[in-house]
Amino acid sequence: MKHRNFDVIVIGGGHAGTEAALAAARRGADTVLITHRFDRLGEMSCNPAIGGLGKGHIVREIDALDGAMGRAADASAIQYRLLNRSKGPAVQGPRTQSDRALYRAAIQNIIKTEPRMSVIEGEAVDLLVKNRIVTGCTLADGSQITAGAVVLTTGTFLRGVIHIGQRTIPAGRQGDPASVRLAERMDELGVTLGRLKTGTPPRLDGRTIDWTRVGQQEADAAPVFLSFLTEEMSCRQVSCGITATNARTHALIDRNLTKSALFGGQINGVGPRYCPSIEDKIVRFAEKASHQIFLEPEGLDDPTIYPNGISTSMPEDVQVELVQSIEGLERCRILRPGYAIEYDYVDPRDLRPTLETRDWTGLFLAGQINGTTGYEEAAGQGLVAGLNAAGRALDLDSAVFTRDESYLGVMIDDLITRGVSEPYRMFTSRAEFRLHLRADNADQRLTPKGVELGCVGVSRRTAYEAKAILLDRARASAVSHTMTPTEASRLGFGLNLDGVRRSLFDILGHANVDPDAVFGLGELSKVAPPILRQLAIEARYAPYLARQAMDAERLRRDEAVRIPETMGYDALGGLSNELRAKLERSRPATLAQAGRIEGMTPVALNQILLHIRSGR
Ligand code: FAD
Repeated sequence: MKHRNFDVIVIGGGHAGTEAALAAARRGADTVLITHRFDRLGEMSCNPAIGGLGKGHIVREIDALDGAMGRAADASAIQYRLLNRSKGPAVQGPRTQSDRALYRAAIQNIIKTEPRMSVIEGEAVDLLVKNRIVTGCTLADGSQITAGAVVLTTGTFLRGVIHIGQRTIPAGRQGDPASVRLAERMDELGVTLGRLKTGTPPRLDGRTIDWTRVGQQEADAAPVFLSFLTEEMSCRQVSCGITATNARTHALIDRNLTKSALFGGQINGVGPRYCPSIEDKIVRFAEKASHQIFLEPEGLDDPTIYPNGISTSMPEDVQVELVQSIEGLERCRILRPGYAIEYDYVDPRDLRPTLETRDWTGLFLAGQINGTTGYEEAAGQGLVAGLNAAGRALDLDSAVFTRDESYLGVMIDDLITRGVSEPYRMFTSRAEFRLHLRADNADQRLTPKGVELGCVGVSRRTAYEAKAILLDRARASAVSHTMTPTEASRLGFGLNLDGVRRSLFDILGHANVDPDAVFGLGELSKVAPPILRQLAIEARYAPYLARQAMDAERLRRDEAVRIPETMGYDALGGLSNELRAKLERSRPATLAQAGRIEGMTPVALNQILLHIRSGR
C-alpha cells in the first residue's frame, strides 16, 4: 500500500479547495490537493460569473490576502459590470462574467506555479483518526496519505443526488460521481449532517437564439477589476441578452408543477430563498406576470448560453417547451437540461472561528459543505481554512477574521454562531460595519494582516506598500491644505460661511462638492487619479466611520471576553430552556458571539458575564 506524508491535505478541488490548498502552501505548508480530476479545477458548476453584491467584496478580500479568485476572474472576464454603480461605494459590487474555459485555465495555471503544492487525482473515501485527531485520509485505491491537518471541501458531493423531473441520479454535479463513502464515514464519526438543495438552469445553444428579439446589456465602459493587481483587460467584452417569461410560460409551468422534482415530493433538502427555481417563483410570486432572464454567454469561443433566472428541475420535455415559450427562444435548442441537486452539509455550529471542527482536532471544513452557496463564499472559507490548517500543521498563529475587519469575518461568525436554515449567501446587509468594509479598501484592511500571516507574496506586498505610501502622502497633503469658507466659496464650493477653516480632505467629504474641482488644488494636482479616487471615497465616509468606531470598540471589548469551552449553561439562572439549548449547541467562544445568537437577551448575556467573572 502506498503511503505519503504532507503538512496539509485538502480534499476537493472546487473553489474552496483550490483557495485552501494555495493559502496553506503560501503560508509554507507542503500541501496536497486531492480531487477527482485536475482538468475540472476552477470549474464553475453553475453561472459563469464571479463577484456581485456582497460577493464582490469577498473576492476583493481573497485577493487582498493573495488568493487566486480575483486574478482568475480578471484573466477570463468577458463582461465587467459594477453593480449598484449609482449607490455609495460601500454597497457597490464588482462583478465579471467569465469565460468558463479561461477561468479554469487561469486557476490551473496558478496551481501549477505554486511550488509547495501538488495535486493527486483520486477520491478520498476515509479519514484517518486517532484519539480524536485527524491524521490523514485513505483514497479509493487504498493508498493512505498522512498530514498535520486535513481540509474537507467536498461541495455538493456528499451523498449528492441530481433530480430532473422524476429521474434521480446519484452525482456530485453533472458528470461527476457523488461522495457516498466519505459521507458514511462522517456519519460514523458522529458529525451532524443536514440536507440542502440547489439548482441550475438548462444550457442553451446560442446559435439557435433569435438575438434580434431580445434586449442587450453591455459591459461597463470603464471596467472595475476584481484584483488589486490587474492593470489592463485580458479579454474582449461581450453583451448579454435580456428576455423574460410570459403568461404562456407560467401556464405551462402551472400545468406541469407535479412533474417538477421540487413539487413532486422527491426533494427534502431546503433550497436558497433568494435564488429560487422558476417553478418556485411562479408559485411564490403568483401575482407577477413575468420574470426577467439574462442570456449570459459561457465563453468567447463557446456557443453555450446560461439563461440566468430559469433554474428548474422539470422533466426534459417540459424544459424544452418552457424555453421555447420565451421571446427570442422559440427555436432554441437545449444543450444540457437543468437540474436540482440535493446534498449533505455539516452543521457549521460545530466549527471554531478557524473553521476547524470542535470535536476533531486537525479537521477543517470549508465551502458548500458548511451550508453556504456560491463560489465566492466557498473560496473565502477555503482561504481561511487553508491558512489555519497550515497554522495547525506548522504550529503557527491562528488566522481569525473579525466582523469589523472583513466580510470573511462576518460570514464565518454568522455560520458558526447561527448555523444555517437554508443555503447561506453573502449580502452587504449582513455586515454591520459595511461603511468600512468596502470592496475598494479590502487591500488596506487585509493585506498587512496577510503579510503578517505569511500568505502574501513579494509582488503583491511591493505593489501594496507603494500604493500605501502614495495614499498616505496624498492624505497628508489634503489634510494640511486648509482654507476659510470665503476662500472655498470663491472656488465654487458651496460650504457653510461659519468661519471654520476646512482641509481639502474635509471639503472632499461634502456630498455637494465636485471631487474633480478639489483634485486640481495644491499638491493634489500631482497625485495619480486612482489614488485621488481612493482618497475621495475615504473622505466621504470619514464622518460616518468616526461614529462607527465606537460600535467597533464595543464589539472588540466583548470579543475579548472569552467564554471557557467547558462553560456549563445548565448552572445559569435567568435563561430560557430554548436559549440554553442554543448556547449548548453553538458554544460561543466570546461574549460578543453569545450576543449574536438569535433570541439572546441583555439579562441572559449579563448572567453569562457574571458567571465568567465568578470564575466558576
Ligand atoms: P464544489 O465547487 O462543488 O467542489 C467540490 C470539489 O470536491 C469537486 O472538485 C469534487 O471533484 C471534489 N470532491 C468531492 N468529493 C470528493 C472526494 N471524496 N474526494 C476527492 N475529491 C472530492 N451557487 C450560487 O451562488 N448560485 C447558484 O445558483 C448556484 N447553483 C448551483 C447549482 C448546482 C447544480 C450546483 C452543483 C452548484 C450551484 N451553486 C450555486 C453552488 C456553487 O457551485 C458552489 O457554491 C461552489 O462551487 C461550492 O464550492 P465548493 O468548493 O464548496 O465545492
